[in-house]
Amino acid sequence: MNLVAEKASPFKLCGREQKREGTIITIGNTSIGGRQLALMAGPCAVESEDQLFAIATYLKNKGVSILRGGAYKPRTSPYSFQGLEKEGLRLLNRIRRELGLLVITEVLDQFTIDEVAKSCDILQVGSRNMQNYSLLRELGRLDKPVLLKRGMSATVEEWLMAAEYIMSGGNSQVMLCERGIRTFETYTRNTLDLSAVPLIKELSHLPVIVDPSHATGRYSLVPAMCKAAVIAGADGLIVEVHPSPSEALSDGAQSLLPEKFSTLLTELKEVAAFTGKSI
Ligand code: PEP
Ligand code: MN
Repeated sequence: MNLVAEKASPFKLCGREQKREGTIITIGNTSIGGRQLALMAGPCAVESEDQLFAIATYLKNKGVSILRGGAYKPRTSPYSFQGLEKEGLRLLNRIRRELGLLVITEVLDQFTIDEVAKSCDILQVGSRNMQNYSLLRELGRLDKPVLLKRGMSATVEEWLMAAEYIMSGGNSQVMLCERGIRTFETYTRNTLDLSAVPLIKELSHLPVIVDPSHATGRYSLVPAMCKAAVIAGADGLIVEVHPSPSEALSDGAQSLLPEKFSTLLTELKEVAAFTGKSI
């Protein structure tokens, strides 16, 4: 028995041994984990009606089906912009109704799960919350997909065990998101662990999404890492795009301008086709 197979045994629900075929999560016409490359894009935070509708309309016209945008922001400093909160959720709900886009947004704690769940199609668990077991347990009771980001210092085993917390509560619609881990390197915000993508594919049947924005912290590195992630076998990407990154209230340095995102999209179509996926 090889080491990988030995390690797989603790993963009772998300383990590849439990289910040979990859999980496909279907939301409306969009599926995550199949032949389609899932694209999630949008600003780090919902900042205003104008900002959100401008970028959402742009992305919709480019064929993106899932809009990202935080209403509750987990900031390192309590003095930084914390998100528009309820007003942000209201705007995200309008995006769903008026533009027909699917929405992914972060849920920070178990107390706000219901209000956040009502305003989105996918609940995001952020890196800082990957081991918030009370939150994970409550998400296990929902009938809604969850994107579980890797903790910034979490091992692959800890990450998969966090997925087990959600799944053991009864929610099997979990996708895993590699968003970079802490290393000694400081030129990049984090270090993208691309090897985690094929590793998770060996260990688990859950879809894998890559977030090159938080993994690098630099917009100039995002396109290359998006393409590398697709080649590594990612089922989807989550990318920060802002109409005016220099004015963004959070994560402007890693946000792509819309036109840069469009160029990336053209390139990604070719890269995805090479791996047998479509956009
Ligand atoms: C985000 O997606 O804006 C975010 C805060 O990401 P992470 O939890 O990976 O830091
Ligand atoms: Mn961000």
